[in-house]
Amino acid sequence: MNLILLGAPGAGKGTQAEKIVEKFGIPAISTGNILRAAVKDGTEMGLKAKSFMDAGGLVPDEVVIGIIKDRLQQEDCKKGFILDGFPRTIPQAEALEEAGVVIDKVVDIEVPDEKITARMSGRRVCAKCANSYHMLYKKPKVEGVCDACGGELIQRKDDAPETVQKRLVEYHNMTEPLKDFYANLGKLVIVEGQEEVADTTALVFKALED
Ligand code: ADP
Ligand code: ZN
Repeated sequence: MNLILLGAPGAGKGTQAEKIVEKFGIPAISTGNILRAAVKDGTEMGLKAKSFMDAGGLVPDEVVIGIIKDRLQQEDCKKGFILDGFPRTIPQAEALEEAGVVIDKVVDIEVPDEKITARMSGRRVCAKCANSYHMLYKKPKVEGVCDACGGELIQRKDDAPETVQKRLVEYHNMTEPLKDFYANLGKLVIVEGQEEVADTTALVFKALED
């Protein structure tokens, strides 16, 4: 099963991707996580991406397309994969088509902008291992401490309120047109994001069954 998760920043794509990984045993590929790892490691790609990310903008298409093409070549993608945060622009979606990547379903998680803004303020990530948490929806066992590695939980620079606004504008302008793109291919399924993570997961799983 080859899947794409679509949705605004903070709609809960990453969290739902983890649930699909657990249930179906296919890898989740997050361009955001790959880019953040590159920034942390100080690679050439990371240096190039950092300024765009910190400002709440999109990283140039050729950079992320290169990342995804490499990643999809790896052995673990043979039995299927979930793309989380890619494609984010029409040219990125076209690049997948041109590379002959067959997508079975595109699940779009819909959350209104007002809710996104409120949610993002509670989002935290581990400074050491980059695991993500939420102060309301996905609490760590000990406040401010990563369950996985004991690292300190911090707010991502691009989760600052002004930057979130900018990311939402980018989402509506650049990413939302993908809904029509995949609807025209008969692949789009829309799921309304719920208050509780588990309720959204139930809807996502149902969308994958149909
Ligand atoms: P979100 O929480 O917004 O879903 P991600 O972790 O997916 O955030 O991405 C963080 C940042 O990384 C984005 O704001 C953008 O700058 C960059 N990025 C991630 N994926 C892409 C992509 N497919 N195209 C362009 N930029 C991307
Ligand atoms: Zn950690």
